[in-house]
Amino acid sequence: MPNHHAWLDEVRPSPYADQLSLGFRRLRFSQALEREYRAHMLEDSFDLKRIALSVATVIWLALAALDMLVVPASHLGWVIAIRALVLLTLLVCAALILQRRHTHLLLPLSMACILVLGVGAALIVGIAHRVAPGYPYEGLLLVSMAAYFLVGLRLSQALACSLVILLAYVAAEWFAGLPLPRLINNVLFLGFGNLIGAVGCYLLEYKSREHFLVSRLMRLLAYHDSLTGLHNRRSFNRQFERLWRQAQRDGKSLALLLCDIDHFKAYNDCYGHQAGDVALQRVGALIEQSARRPLDIGVRLGGEEFALLLFDIGADEAKQRAEVLRQSLEQAAIAHRGSDSAAVLTMSIGVAWLSPDGQPELNLLYEQADRALYEAKAFGRNKVAA
Ligand code: GH3
Ligand code: MG
Ligand code: MG
Repeated sequence: MPNHHAWLDEVRPSPYADQLSLGFRRLRFSQALEREYRAHMLEDSFDLKRIALSVATVIWLALAALDMLVVPASHLGWVIAIRALVLLTLLVCAALILQRRHTHLLLPLSMACILVLGVGAALIVGIAHRVAPGYPYEGLLLVSMAAYFLVGLRLSQALACSLVILLAYVAAEWFAGLPLPRLINNVLFLGFGNLIGAVGCYLLEYKSREHFLVSRLMRLLAYHDSLTGLHNRRSFNRQFERLWRQAQRDGKSLALLLCDIDHFKAYNDCYGHQAGDVALQRVGALIEQSARRPLDIGVRLGGEEFALLLFDIGADEAKQRAEVLRQSLEQAAIAHRGSDSAAVLTMSIGVAWLSPDGQPELNLLYEQADRALYEAKAFGRNKVAA
């Protein structure tokens, strides 16, 4: 399939963009992405499985009613016994699937349903053909179609199931003594039906994978700043609330550091906007380094304003971290001849801290940090205020 994503070069580096450009004709991503995709599909196809189970049960029961009319009484007992056994297995699998507790069993259980239905149907056809040669065998194709389109299997899994069903059918007809020309005719019909199913399933899985990559990439772009790669303000608002709730639940403290580069307008005026962008990237990297624990996040709020949200940290430690960050920019020694505060690029930082038992508003933390930042600026810049 041709690759129409000429825009991808602009959004690298991202594993999603890389995989999109690399392509995935064999329906396989790189290892980590493949794991992520499969976990996503498991979650995404749950409703589909629920619908498929209901549809399968209804059709299976309807065909059982039809058997009563078509299969002679001498063989009806066997046919009904197989119908009942398959139905029972289906219901047990359905109960396990719908509980949703055993996520790792969802796929094996779905495949088990398809196999039980397919092999059961093949056996019924075989038994019926011993006495009623006109008994329809095409129902087997319905099971394969369900495997390709209805249960959220990947192509390889659907193909494996369909192959087992086809082999079971050949064995059953052998047992029934179906004349060879008819067997060949029927196998060809089922084979071509499967071919159509497999091609459709391939296209669907390809599109599903493409959609997965594009939507993940879009999410990444929507929540990250393109210049520094840090979280953007939209992401900050989301994460801030999430961490706030988690901090309250776990009884942990939260610190917010608001950072603003000093005399940045002058920096742009002296060195040009492009050099300003490079400086912003270097500051972004320092912020990123400071957000070193899993729940810490570094943010570019906009322009030359950054934030660092630190989870589970004492008030003194938060101030220390701010001081280390301030010094790290000073030590980066990015010359700034337009600054009144130093010969190099510096930043001012306002720190606000929230103890787990204090329950003020979320916005209050931001306002306090902002006020502290204002003080740091007023006291001559290149300072930390709390
Ligand atoms: P202060 O010390 O009081 O913070 O002064 P300042 O000059 O840093 O503050 P001000 O808010 O007046 O100026 C911010 C400047 O940041 C203005 C704008 O040109 C620059 N800026 C904002 N976004 C970008 C950007 O994406 N790239 C570049 N190069 N400059 C930016
Ligand atoms: Mg500013
Ligand atoms: Mg500034």
